[in-house]
Amino acid sequence: MTITPLMPVYPRCGVRPVRGEHCHLIDEDGTRYLDFASGIAVNLLGHSHAGLIGAIQRQAETLMHVSNLYGSPQGEALAQRLVDNTFADTVFFTNSGAEAVEAAIKTARAYHQHAGDTTRFELITFRNAFHGRTMATISASNQEKMHHGFSPLLAGFKYVDFDDLEGAKAAIGPHTAGFLVEPIQGEGGIRPASDEFMQGLRALADEHDLMLVLDEVQCGVARTGKLYAYEHYGIEPDILATAKGIGGGFPLGACLATERAARGMGFGAHGSTYGGNPLAMAAGTAVMDAVANEEFLAEVAEKGERIRSRLEQFIGNYPDLFELVRGKGLMLGLKMKVESRPFFVHLRDKYQLLTVAAGDNTLRVIPPLVIGNAEIDEFFDKLSAGAADFEVPETA
Ligand SMILES: *Cc1c(COP(=O)(O)O)cnc(C)c1O
Repeated sequence: MTITPLMPVYPRCGVRPVRGEHCHLIDEDGTRYLDFASGIAVNLLGHSHAGLIGAIQRQAETLMHVSNLYGSPQGEALAQRLVDNTFADTVFFTNSGAEAVEAAIKTARAYHQHAGDTTRFELITFRNAFHGRTMATISASNQEKMHHGFSPLLAGFKYVDFDDLEGAKAAIGPHTAGFLVEPIQGEGGIRPASDEFMQGLRALADEHDLMLVLDEVQCGVARTGKLYAYEHYGIEPDILATAKGIGGGFPLGACLATERAARGMGFGAHGSTYGGNPLAMAAGTAVMDAVANEEFLAEVAEKGERIRSRLEQFIGNYPDLFELVRGKGLMLGLKMKVESRPFFVHLRDKYQLLTVAAGDNTLRVIPPLVIGNAEIDEFFDKLSAGAADFEVPETA
């Protein structure tokens, strides 16, 4: 037998964390890493946040799981919290991002089919998007590396270039149900959509009675200095998928919708055994307690600006390595002129700085939102040292 007990789908690196302390991870051999990856934009509050731990501990001792056959005071409270703080009127809780996007896709289709229109089922999606790894969510992305071995894909997705409003408009046809878009592409390379694009999609959706579905799984929950990234664009979606940061490290996602958009999601339309369990609700509530206030959001925006301007200064010293800085708040990307992966490995293995590689030769800088000045300085020390002695690998 050569297959490993853990199904070998991840190319895992040699870092093997066993403990977390605020913005650092400690490996099984005791090595300390500065964590500017946050479990890929998940650990908003760092790794040992007393409020989050306390909430999970208390809830675990009280009640961990019941069925959605029963009433849910915990779910009602967190849903109300999200409704009060967003465009949404109603919330479906999931356990992951892909499930949240699945629920969003179903909600968008059901919007039309509930009204008796079974011809409109297609979502226009955008190249280099990432929406998750279920059949529907890989089908929603044009990225062939995720399709290989899994055909046939699910029907009902049409790909258009990201940030191309004219392309999106031209793609609208008799089967179009809506648009599914990340306001800031994460895996695709921290690429924020332009204001014109997001506002244009909203206008097209209004004009053609389409659903504007946002995938804010990575950019949502205070990451950009707003609770949700759509707020930067002066528009509101009909449906939104959120996950990653919303549980602060506890598996939790949600599909948010307006009352109108959710008209097809009545009794029996959807479900999840674990979705919205009391333990997840406790974690989500603790995260909202920490982040859903003006003061916290302003701090994220301020720290993001500070890191961004220092990054911009820094890349000026290495014009051969770096092209530009992009993103919003603490969702930043360093676009490189060379392949970004070797540099990411160099920072990790020589300087114990964890970042995340992304598409378009971009290095993701996505620290816990609770970083302080000391961690920001440590980041720049490691980054500067790493850039100074980085040798661009020869390409064959
Ligand atoms: C991570 C991610 C997902 C998938 O979330 P999972 O929890 O891994 O299923 C979907 N959309 C975006 C934008 C993501 O970044």
